[in-house]
Amino acid sequence: MNYSIAIDGPAGAGKSTIAKKLAQKLQYIYVDTGAMYRAMAIYFLDHGILPEDEASIRKACENVRIRIEYEEGAQQVILNDENVTARLRREEVGTMASKTSVYPEVRKKLVELQKELARVQNVIMDGRDIGTCVLPDATLKVYLTASVEARAKRRFDELKGKGETPDIQVIEADIRERDERDMNREVSPLRQAEDAVLVDSSNMTIEEVVECMEGLFHNKIKQR
Ligand code: C5P
Repeated sequence: MNYSIAIDGPAGAGKSTIAKKLAQKLQYIYVDTGAMYRAMAIYFLDHGILPEDEASIRKACENVRIRIEYEEGAQQVILNDENVTARLRREEVGTMASKTSVYPEVRKKLVELQKELARVQNVIMDGRDIGTCVLPDATLKVYLTASVEARAKRRFDELKGKGETPDIQVIEADIRERDERDMNREVSPLRQAEDAVLVDSSNMTIEEVVECMEGLFHNKIKQR
């Protein structure tokens, strides 16, 4: 049987940074499920499909093929044979992903792919519905969160580091809006699974969170 770690939480809580480091330590495959919703969003953007146009989105889902590959350990997302990894982190792609991830057709397609990835190997998977829906039997489930202020500050520092001139208030407003959408949608809303451990990283360093989660994971394995 494979082991799996499910990490859920709001945007900017540090899920991907932590998951990548932990995956490296444990030699597990890291699966970034947000990247899959972003790849779908790229398809909708490239085809001029509006996020409110549910009928077109439903139809488009039939034509979208998403595949995951790994290049030197880094996840690559292939959308209909095109590697779209470099475009995934753009702001408009994130917004489109957040708006279109509410549709059951979009979710069904991606959840199937995610379950299959975890069936064949040990994974650390992060997203919004991993512990509640994708991997209900995960070895360890963590709900990783941080205050809106802490998350906004991290994003601000990241953009500044890239030479941009971000506005902290705009970032905070965007985070609140995305939380609202992710937590209140009808299908698979973001919430802490009953058996997930809550980790609040507001006042923790990356290393502290990684260490904490590694400890939690080893305890879970010992209990089995
Ligand atoms: O985590 P990331 O910001 O890349 O995710 C982009 C969007 O995809 C999120 O705002 C969320 O709406 C959606 N998502 C989701 N379920 C997941 C992962 C991401 O609905 N498991």
